[in-house]
Amino acid sequence: MNKRIVVFGSFVVDLTARTPRLPTPGETVLGKSFAMGPGGKGSNQAVAAHRAGGDVTLVTKVGRDVFGTVAMDFYHKEGMDTAYILEDPDGESGCALITVDETTAQNEIVVVSGACGRITPQDVERVRPLIQSAGVLLVQLEVNFDALFAVIRIAREAGVPVVLNPAPAAKLPPEIMRMVTIMTPNETEAEFLTGVRITGPEDACRAAEILMEQDVEQVVITLGAMGAFAMNRERWELLAPLEVEAVDTTGAGDAFNGGFVTALAEGADLFTALRYGNVTGALSVTRCGTAPAMPGRAEIEALYKKVYG
Ligand code: ADP
Repeated sequence: MNKRIVVFGSFVVDLTARTPRLPTPGETVLGKSFAMGPGGKGSNQAVAAHRAGGDVTLVTKVGRDVFGTVAMDFYHKEGMDTAYILEDPDGESGCALITVDETTAQNEIVVVSGACGRITPQDVERVRPLIQSAGVLLVQLEVNFDALFAVIRIAREAGVPVVLNPAPAAKLPPEIMRMVTIMTPNETEAEFLTGVRITGPEDACRAAEILMEQDVEQVVITLGAMGAFAMNRERWELLAPLEVEAVDTTGAGDAFNGGFVTALAEGADLFTALRYGNVTGALSVTRCGTAPAMPGRAEIEALYKKVYG
């Protein structure tokens, strides 16, 4: 069983400059290097699920500009379905302006949603049959909320499980919380949503319970180098992190979500999918970048087998 995964979310082009230090307001600093690459949580998670072996369709929106071409070229190279990469003929694609201080690794980021913040009711109608045919829907919070909520409603009415990665953190209306099958915040987002600072399993349980009191069915909390946690109505589990040599943790959450939904789409239960996500997240931190750092099926399977048998 390999059900279709539909990811509804953002594409932005990451424009990354590395500098000796971050500029102060009004100051110009000479950068050392520049890189341009595909990004956005929706896109990154779709790539992660695709590389993990999922049957993935990404729904996002780009402008008719050079960044839109970056998106299409990248998906073609990855062998991904581009039938639902919507186009805004009049507006620009999304982008993220990232400045990284080479010495401290601190960064400053400005994200402009662009086209993926302008998904229209007509766009939503166009993707309705696709959403209804999904085995699982994966969404984040980087697109305009009116379109996002409409898509979540379509999924729920069709009985399609909704996995919501609440990033970047935002409070959601009770009506939408009730429609979430599995919510997957990281520890910062979980704290934002529940007020619980997570330092150990008791806190993770408390935060998950608060979300479940709002009728979220199941909760996963990714805990970075502390591992990953999941809870359903019967039990909870905290997985230890896998020992890997971490070189760049950006995109770990995206990798986790991609691996996690791929396992769900193959029929895994919550706790097996949690292991799959933990392995995918751990492998992604061993390489630089976001989408290019996503691991492939073979390495995920190999590490999974080694760690979990
Ligand atoms: P985000 O990128 O949203 O902050 P996290 O930092 O929580 O996400 O990472 C997501 C998952 O990736 C973790 O739950 C874990 O499975 C894995 N991971 C992240 N950092 C490490 C690490 N240093 N070592 C091993 N696994 C990691």
